[in-house]
Amino acid sequence: MSTLRFHALKEVFNHKPVRIEENVRRSEIFGANVFDESTMRQYLTNEAFESVMSAISKGSKIDRIVADHISTGMKEWAISKGATHYTHWFQPLTGATAEKHDAFFETIGNGLAIEKFDGGQLVQQEPDASSFPNGGIRNTFEARGYTAWDPTSPAFVYGTTLCIPTVFVSYTGEALDYKTPLLRALQAVDNAAVAVCKYFDKNVKKVNASLGWEQEYFLIDSGLAMSRPDITLTGRTLLGHSPAKGQQLDDHYFGTIPNRAMAYMRDLETECMLLGIPVKTRHNEVAPNQFELAPIYEEANLAVDHNSLLMDVMDKVAERHNFKVLFHEKPFAGVNGSGKHNNWSLSTDTGINLLSPGKTPMSNLQFLTFFINTIKAVYKHEELLRAAIASASNDHRLGANEAPPAIISVFIGAQLTHTLNELENVTNGKLSPQEKTDLKLNVVGKIPDVLLDNTDRNRTSPFAFTGNKFEFRAVGSTANCANSMTVLNTIVAKQLVDFKEEVDGLISKKDMKKDDAIFNVLREYIKKSKPILFEGNGYAEAWEKEAKKRGLSNNKTTPEALKAKVSKKAIRLFEEMNVMNKIETQARYEIEVEEYVLRIQIEGRVLGDIARNHVVPTAVRYQNILIDNVKGLKEIYGASFKKLAKEQLNLIEQISRHIEGINSNVTKMTEERKKANAIDNLEKKASAYCNVVKPLFEDIRYHCDKLELLVDDELWPLTKYRELLFTK
Ligand code: ADP
Ligand code: MG
Repeated sequence: MSTLRFHALKEVFNHKPVRIEENVRRSEIFGANVFDESTMRQYLTNEAFESVMSAISKGSKIDRIVADHISTGMKEWAISKGATHYTHWFQPLTGATAEKHDAFFETIGNGLAIEKFDGGQLVQQEPDASSFPNGGIRNTFEARGYTAWDPTSPAFVYGTTLCIPTVFVSYTGEALDYKTPLLRALQAVDNAAVAVCKYFDKNVKKVNASLGWEQEYFLIDSGLAMSRPDITLTGRTLLGHSPAKGQQLDDHYFGTIPNRAMAYMRDLETECMLLGIPVKTRHNEVAPNQFELAPIYEEANLAVDHNSLLMDVMDKVAERHNFKVLFHEKPFAGVNGSGKHNNWSLSTDTGINLLSPGKTPMSNLQFLTFFINTIKAVYKHEELLRAAIASASNDHRLGANEAPPAIISVFIGAQLTHTLNELENVTNGKLSPQEKTDLKLNVVGKIPDVLLDNTDRNRTSPFAFTGNKFEFRAVGSTANCANSMTVLNTIVAKQLVDFKEEVDGLISKKDMKKDDAIFNVLREYIKKSKPILFEGNGYAEAWEKEAKKRGLSNNKTTPEALKAKVSKKAIRLFEEMNVMNKIETQARYEIEVEEYVLRIQIEGRVLGDIARNHVVPTAVRYQNILIDNVKGLKEIYGASFKKLAKEQLNLIEQISRHIEGINSNVTKMTEERKKANAIDNLEKKASAYCNVVKPLFEDIRYHCDKLELLVDDELWPLTKYRELLFTK
């Protein structure tokens, strides 16, 4: 009997829901482990407090002496929460979070010791981080990287460690993490949006980008997950036949949450509350054992940190509940995959959501301005937006017959489509008083503040307007949201800068009134951006043809898609918006291409190993049983055995054919991998992995999955799909 699988299955019966005591109100514990505004008031001197607040709102520098006061307050608070260590918490380009813990504890001679944490330790650290990916930046500049405190994301205590959110940059100033370019992009969109807001309200001083992510994931019994080397090493199943029952019945979607999963979620939510992550929604997703978690939206930088932190916390809490969380975009073939919808909007310090229709014609004109500029930005940079979500794992969703497709398009719903059609007919040049009144009353004024058709919206669109925000749905469930948020905010910033220039141009050169100028520019934008608007089914074949006619990109694989990141257009864009210089842009590209190669390489190795060392020997063992059986029949029945052994003989041959199929394809794959490894040019290497090595996975899998159907269940070593997916 294949021991690991059956041992794991037996263990599942001992895995009962783990109930965690909770008798507190969530609102009472919310943020209890966060060094937030109210805690800072308590632990910091007035001067220190004001200094942090101004760093948060205005980005002002914190004086070194004040930093000492802040660190002392922070340390006292952290120790009161049980912390013994501190760490600079950052997000290197591996996608995961990184931390290196140091104790507060220090000796001061004569056998004495104190707890110490000074301003220098708070503000800047030099982790020995030479093995984080840097795309050659640090080699080129022979500079070490350092982490620097980001006061806009509050410090928190997790376990016994004070975590200080930081950026990670090289000494020459190049970003080595996800956060640095994101902060710069948020600054860019703030500046550009404030300038445009002044057309409508002179009081606006700051615009924040908001992000509300929705995290999808699978929860699998940890024993079962561990019994599969592919899940352990690659985060997904590389083979496995689909179960007799899949998700056809839709009986999991929004159904009752199973007990063990519920206990996990409650525990997780409590942890999130303590950490100030405002999780709010939980429900079952489409596939069996698939779930979703969503918070109340927050300022984008904080929301990105919270999503990264959440993914860590999810892993840790899962251990207590004997679960393994699968974040992979496609852990099971033939079963719905996971994404991470990024809900995005812009809001002012005067409390206005710029992507929410308002109550007056003026506020609606402001809404339309931001709405149309976003559409234009997405149209102009659709390929870059696609590149921002490219990864080996997300390729299984985008462009692989699963919504959303690899083609970026924008869904806006019937009501706004109608409004844009009306605006398209606005007079060229100055508007007559009647036309303006008519526009204000009948077009702009008629946008309801609740957009009905967006409640029942198109779920296949990669970028949809959903009433008061845009929802970027093509982001992968494993992704760090910083990547997509950096690109989205940068392209919108650039677009708003261009818009302002055009409107100002019409006002000063064509002597137009402000409103006339805005209407004129928006009209042209609507005309130009039409190809990106699509209301239909995003993964119907007809759309691919149509999109091609419209000139939209359809980059189905990561190596293809990533190229847009280093196009001249992209490099110029990031430079102009001060988000990344050319070196940073190119370094990131290299890191991502390399990561793609590594992922496919690992998958190839693991698949080869499982196919040859698990599947083939099992098939041979079963074949031998069949052979013994045939021999026995022959012994007993003599010449007439053939009739009785017909099926067995047939099976014996089928098994041999599949074994041959596996061996020849694994050999081929190994050779192709060797060839690919010998290619120096990184782009060509990635393309070889993508187009030559990876397609062989399917052939190998085909034969393995066929064998799974033929071989005695008792012998099969790999935990099956039905067991992984339907064990609750
Ligand atoms: P869905 O139907 O797609 O699950 P929800 O209405 O539940 O969508 O919202 C999903 C996410 O969108 C939540 O995280 C929510 O906080 C976020 N969200 C709501 N309004 C905004 C907004 N103005 N800006 C950004 N995110 C928002
Ligand atoms: Mg959603």
